[in-house]
Amino acid sequence: MLVGCEREADAALAFERFSGNTMGTTYHVTVVAQAQGEPLSLDSEAFKRGLDAELAQINQQMSTYIADSELMRFNRSPVGAWQSLSEPLAAVLAISRTVSERSNGAFDISVGPLVNLWGFGPEAEPEQVPSEEELLALRQRVGYRKLELDEQRARRLADIQLDLSAVAKGYGVDHIARWIESRGFENYLVEIGGEVYLSGVSPRGDAWRIGVEQPSLLQEGGRMALALSDIGMATSGDYRNYYERNGVRYSHTIDPRTGRPIVHKLASVTVLAETAAEADAWATALNVLGPEAGMAVAEREKLAVYMIVKAGEGYEDRFSSAFEPYRP
Ligand code: ADP
Ligand code: MG
Repeated sequence: MLVGCEREADAALAFERFSGNTMGTTYHVTVVAQAQGEPLSLDSEAFKRGLDAELAQINQQMSTYIADSELMRFNRSPVGAWQSLSEPLAAVLAISRTVSERSNGAFDISVGPLVNLWGFGPEAEPEQVPSEEELLALRQRVGYRKLELDEQRARRLADIQLDLSAVAKGYGVDHIARWIESRGFENYLVEIGGEVYLSGVSPRGDAWRIGVEQPSLLQEGGRMALALSDIGMATSGDYRNYYERNGVRYSHTIDPRTGRPIVHKLASVTVLAETAAEADAWATALNVLGPEAGMAVAEREKLAVYMIVKAGEGYEDRFSSAFEPYRP
C-alpha cells in the first residue's frame, strides 16, 4: 500500500491522523498545522464524525453494495426516462464519460454485469468460467454510449448496470479534500483504498513522501518514493484483486472490448492528476489498455504515468514524458 513516510519524532508541524473503513476498504486522513509552533486547531471527535458522515453520504450515492443507493436506484430506473442526479453522482458520471471517450472505451462504468459474471461484484464468485454464450448475451447491456448525460440528469438508453468502483474511491478522496479545505486546512493527505490526494506540506514541513508499492505481495515495501504536493495519485494493478481457477489468474479489471479480464504484462500503473478521481479512472483505463497502447494514450493525453511492467523474472519501470518532473 501507500505509506506517508513520516514519524511523530521528526515532525516539524503539529498533525493528527484519522482512519476508518469506507467503500469496502480503509481510509486514512492526515491534517497538518499551518505553521511551525502552531497547534492544530480541530476538535478530533467532531472532525472524525464529520469525515465518516461525508463518506457515508458518498457511499449512499455511489455504492453497488447498497441496494437503495442513488446509483442502484438509477440502475433500476425505466429505460429512456431522465433521472435527476445529486451533484456528486453527476460529477462522477461526467468524469467517467470523458475517460471512456479518451481511452477508446477501455474505461467503461457499464461493465457491471461483466464484473458480476466474472465474480467480482456484489454477487458471488462463479462456479466456472463464463461461457462464450453468456458473454455474448451481455453485450447488449454493456457500453458507455448507452448512458446519456445532460448536466444534472441522466438516462439509460438500454438496460445497463453502472458500477463506479474504478472511480468512486478517487472521487471520495477529492470530496473529503474539499471538505477539509472548507474547514480551513491547506496541509493534508487523504487516502481511500490506495487512491490519494496530497495537499500542501507534510508534518515534516515539505512535500509529502509517498511510496509506490512493489508489484508482488511477496515483496514488501516501496519500489519508488515520490515527493508530491497539490496532486491526486492512483494506482491500478493486477496483484491485489484477482482469483485463480485451474492455474489461470483472473483480474477484477475487465476489458470492455472482449468482455474478459485483462491479461498482459502490466503489473501496475500509477497516474498523477489534478484530481484523485481522474487519476483513479485513468489508472484503470491504462491498466485495461496494457503497457504499449496504454503508454501511447498517456503520451497523447499528456498524463503523468509510471508503469511497472513484467520482464522475464523481474520487473521494468517505464515513465511517460509528463511523469519526468516527478521522478526522484
Ligand atoms: P484497480 O485499483 O485495480 O484499478 P479499482 O478499484 O480502481 O481497481 O477498479 C476496479 C473495479 O472497477 C472492478 O472491481 C470493477 O468493479 C470495475 N471495473 C472493472 N473493469 C472496468 C473497466 N474497464 N472500466 C471501469 N470499471 C471497471
Ligand atoms: Mg481505478
